[in-house]
Amino acid sequence: MKIIADTHCHTSASGHAYCSVLEMVAAAAKKKLWAVGITDHGRTTPNSPGDWYFENLWVIPKIIDGVYVLKGMEANIWDYDGNLDASNLVFSRLNWIVASMHPETLKPIHDVDACTNAWLNVAKNPFVNVIGHSGEERYKYDYEKVIPEFASNGKLVEINNGSFRVRKGSIENCKKIALICKKHGAYVIVNSDSHFSTQVGNVNLALEMLKEIDFPDELIINGYKNKFEDYLKNHTNFFS
Ligand SMILES: [Zn+2]
Ligand SMILES: [Zn+2]
Repeated sequence: MKIIADTHCHTSASGHAYCSVLEMVAAAAKKKLWAVGITDHGRTTPNSPGDWYFENLWVIPKIIDGVYVLKGMEANIWDYDGNLDASNLVFSRLNWIVASMHPETLKPIHDVDACTNAWLNVAKNPFVNVIGHSGEERYKYDYEKVIPEFASNGKLVEINNGSFRVRKGSIENCKKIALICKKHGAYVIVNSDSHFSTQVGNVNLALEMLKEIDFPDELIINGYKNKFEDYLKNHTNFFS
């Protein structure tokens, strides 16, 4: 299995990542990726850019170095009702939204019901594409209840390579999440969460875990150009 798109990457605009858009895209081209997603953190992350940064991303060409460039955001879920830290107007100008929970912007309260409620509401948000690194123990939710809702609402459950390096406590939960995706036939998307260009397309640890649990390749949406392209056509404004 080789991925054709890495849809969760940060540039120096995030304030704690260190490359430009061009450097990230060049790295994607070098890895022969078909598409790359530029997803800097939403405005409530310390030192992240404001609305103007995201609203103006359209100035970046759709294709650079032969790579499709998805203009996106890693939006923060900033309350347990699943609200995100950008307006629908901003989201409507973007192609690709990853929604994630981070302790800097959502105080962990270790409450499964509260996290379940948050994710159920995120599942209904029409702008969200990717359920970002949702395996953290402090944000544990009812996987069995929520994952079918992600699937039926066209959300892609992320298996985040960074979790195997920086969120090690969540590996067991990532496995549980993947197994429930397998059971329900829900698509996952394998992303690097790169904060430096050398990490673009690097998803080996996530793929190893999926292999270990005998996860079906055909449910890894960014393992197939035709499947991922169909998703972009049917669930995003990228080609419109
Ligand atoms: Zn994140
Ligand atoms: Zn990220």
